[in-house]
Amino acid sequence: MATAKIGLFGVATLPPTHNHRITTASSHRRFIFINSRRSLRTRSSSSLTLRASSDTSSSSVASPGNAVENVVIIGSGPAGYTAAIYAARANLKPVVFEGYQMGGVPGGQLMTTTEVENFPGFPDGITGPGLMDRMRRQAERWGAELHHEDVEAIDVKSSPFTVQSSERKVKSHTVIIATGATAKRLRLPREDEFWSRGISACAICDGASPLFKGQILAVVGGGDTATEEALYLTKYARHVHLLVRRDQLRASKAMQDRVYDNPNVTVHFNTETVDIVSNTKGQMSGILVRKLDSGEESVLEAKGLFYGIGHSPNTQLLKGQVELDQSGYLLVKEGTAKTSVKGVFAAGDVQDHEWRQAVTAAGSGMYCSFIS
Ligand SMILES: Cc1cc2nc3c(=O)[nH]c(=O)nc-3n(C[C@H](O)[C@H](O)[C@H](O)COP(=O)(O)OP(=O)(O)OC[C@H]3O[C@@H](n4cnc5c(N)ncnc54)[C@H](O)[C@@H]3O)c2cc1C
Repeated sequence: MATAKIGLFGVATLPPTHNHRITTASSHRRFIFINSRRSLRTRSSSSLTLRASSDTSSSSVASPGNAVENVVIIGSGPAGYTAAIYAARANLKPVVFEGYQMGGVPGGQLMTTTEVENFPGFPDGITGPGLMDRMRRQAERWGAELHHEDVEAIDVKSSPFTVQSSERKVKSHTVIIATGATAKRLRLPREDEFWSRGISACAICDGASPLFKGQILAVVGGGDTATEEALYLTKYARHVHLLVRRDQLRASKAMQDRVYDNPNVTVHFNTETVDIVSNTKGQMSGILVRKLDSGEESVLEAKGLFYGIGHSPNTQLLKGQVELDQSGYLLVKEGTAKTSVKGVFAAGDVQDHEWRQAVTAAGSGMYCSFIS
């Protein structure tokens, strides 16, 4: 009999290929008790030691052939894979739809970036795809069932829930939504060429990188996101231009004041961002802008362009079924991953319009462990 330390989620450090009956050392407490695919209860204390024994009795966790899954996870960014790692280690045999084209690529947003320098554990940085490959392998190692498919429909109006992908229909007692958010793009003619080589959609992620440090940078947008990004970038940039299509900022009064009061930010109103300009080495050297009132075009010197025009949370499939905020983000109960529908959980950028970082996405993936 192996003894495993079980955290809040009941993390059983056991080989992934066995079914395990888990019993508590102390029976009078509430505990995580898994005796069917549905019955998972959490206790309130921070951790307890459970005993786990290899066993194939009816009280085992995963019962092959059962038509209803324990957990379906939709999304394969840091949130989805972290939720999968925790669920798989608790022997819940999660089924993960990694995505294909809808709402991003398998592996999520980090697949579109080069260096990730702020994810703990990688002092020399790691490429986005490299990091996601490690997370994927970790989930797989613990027995998560991964499908390289888009989910095309979800029905969470009655339990068990139904998840329909391009290839299969799955019933599940629990669904974890980790479909992320997609940064809105301008679709500039040379956008793909300079994506991650001058263009970024994340000042917090990229602002401090050597590519941008000490340089003249620009942010496009006039709302809270853009003004926040511009102010953030002043910590690292020589100067920041804020390119605004309208003749005024949409940002809150407080943010407007902070921008106008900052001598390192120049606001350009009635200004459309037309394209990227490069030097003879093929590096980004400026931005072609057009004045909307006069039609006049000019090149603004800049080594970087940050998009601050917002994100679209990938929640289209849940509209009308789960409570969303005004911008379409999934609403969760504070400090949890619980949505308005019992048994439906949300993690990562799909429920976070504020931080939108890999480490916070992964952290909230862990919150989904509380699937009681
Ligand atoms: C260019 C760029 C650079 C960044 N750099 C950093 C950085 O250096 N450090 C940092 O901490 N953060 C960085 N970020 C932010 C970070 O990538 C995100 O915060 C993080 O990826 C969010 O994780 P997530 O799991 O919530 O969602 P995502 O990573 O967006 O993953 C969402 C997943 O859901 C899947 N999906 C969506 N719809 C469906 C569907 N219908 N069916 C199946 N699957 C679906 C997608 O395919 C994808 O796999 C960067 C973001 C960008 C865009």
